[in-house]
Amino acid sequence: MSGSAAVIVGAGQTGAHAAMALREAGWAGSIVLVGDEAHAPYDRPPLSKAALTAETMPGPVHFHDPAKVAAREIELRPGVRVEGIDRGAGRVALGDGSWLAYDRLLLATGGRARRLAVPGGERVLTLRTLEDAAAIRARLVPGARVVCIGAGVIGLEIASSARARGAEVMVVEAGPGCMGRSLTPEFAGWIQRLHERAGVRFHFGAAIVEVSAEGVVCADAVHPADVVIAGIGITRNSGLAEAAGLAVENGIVVDARGATEDPAIFAAGDVAAFWHPFYGRRLRLEAWRHAQNHGIAVGRSMAGDATPYADIPWFWTDQHGVNLQLAGLPDLAVATVLRGSMEDTSLAAFHLDAAGCVVAATGVNAPREVRAAQAMIPLRCPADAAALADPASNLQRVVAAMRQG
Ligand SMILES: Cc1cc2nc3c(=O)[nH]c(=O)nc-3n(C[C@H](O)[C@H](O)[C@H](O)COP(=O)(O)OP(=O)(O)OC[C@H]3O[C@@H](n4cnc5c(N)ncnc54)[C@H](O)[C@@H]3O)c2cc1C
Repeated sequence: MSGSAAVIVGAGQTGAHAAMALREAGWAGSIVLVGDEAHAPYDRPPLSKAALTAETMPGPVHFHDPAKVAAREIELRPGVRVEGIDRGAGRVALGDGSWLAYDRLLLATGGRARRLAVPGGERVLTLRTLEDAAAIRARLVPGARVVCIGAGVIGLEIASSARARGAEVMVVEAGPGCMGRSLTPEFAGWIQRLHERAGVRFHFGAAIVEVSAEGVVCADAVHPADVVIAGIGITRNSGLAEAAGLAVENGIVVDARGATEDPAIFAAGDVAAFWHPFYGRRLRLEAWRHAQNHGIAVGRSMAGDATPYADIPWFWTDQHGVNLQLAGLPDLAVATVLRGSMEDTSLAAFHLDAAGCVVAATGVNAPREVRAAQAMIPLRCPADAAALADPASNLQRVVAAMRQG
């Protein structure tokens, strides 16, 4: 092993994949993965799904076999917090007062659940960690009155899981509909109806004044609750970077290789605002596949690979047995082509820009259609809208035709 040292701060999904990729890309020095949680890196999506609904709480899903991690000579330091970065000396300060030197440093510090900033906000549970999931799970008993604050992905997945456990569920949301940041109004309505059919009630346009012992007090209504859970987004863990004088603008600013303006320091995953060469702008994504692939790409980059990261954004959510996927950036779209009917249990929509190119797709129980869209988006050429709309058309052929121009 050479004398070079790589330190990865944050033993989440991004950090875990980056450590493996760094070694596999030929990094010969030491690799230390420092994480303030007490566990080896584990998968978060099950926390709002199976961890809340399964008969008994399933154990954590780890990304890598510990034997494989050890064989790659990756040292995991769980339960250790990095308190600061001394860029001049090339070292980080650990919570126990010791220092760890680095030649390459990756900040994969992700985010923490945002807290509700109203009187009584401390009564509200949030969901980010295994411990959070265990605490919520214990409260989801049949008949419990659950108020979920936020109709985004996490709030709605918790609502779905709570109903599956027999709880009464009210979702309180400041905006006008479900998943307002990512869905068109039609799909937002579709998801809302799905929840309503499952017995979930909604209060949109809500202004929460207080969370009291009785429940959630809004300006125009009181929602009695035995348990209140907020799914109102994350607060980025970018404090280390800010304190070290690195640029932070909606995330730690990095280039397409994950490098900050300090060539020794990189950032990836939920915490990073990265330059996307295909879109020609900076993005910050909070999604499972991005955490994995950005971690891998930036791990390789730390070992010297200059390939830019240009994955097309994609995420999925599972609610009431329905799988919803979204690829691309819907905010670039000016028109939508529906494939199927809004009454169907399986349907997809292709979102097109002014030139008729597919820029995004939404699929309800339609993974193949969303996969096809992910092949179309990077081609950036007008699509045959009639073929997209026809459920009988073969999308692989549509992609092939687009490739031929
Ligand atoms: C409940 C839940 C359900 C989800 N479901 C889906 C889904 O269905 N589909 C989907 O696409 N995505 C989903 N996601 C999103 C996905 O899991 C995240 O995008 C991913 O976990 C981000 O990984 P990360 O490693 O970048 O950040 P994190 O997972 O936040 O990991 C960062 C780690 O760094 C640690 N850390 C922070 N600061 C320090 C420090 N100073 N010192 C040491 N350690 C530190 C943190 O404690 C944490 O362990 C879900 C997320 C949650 C929470």
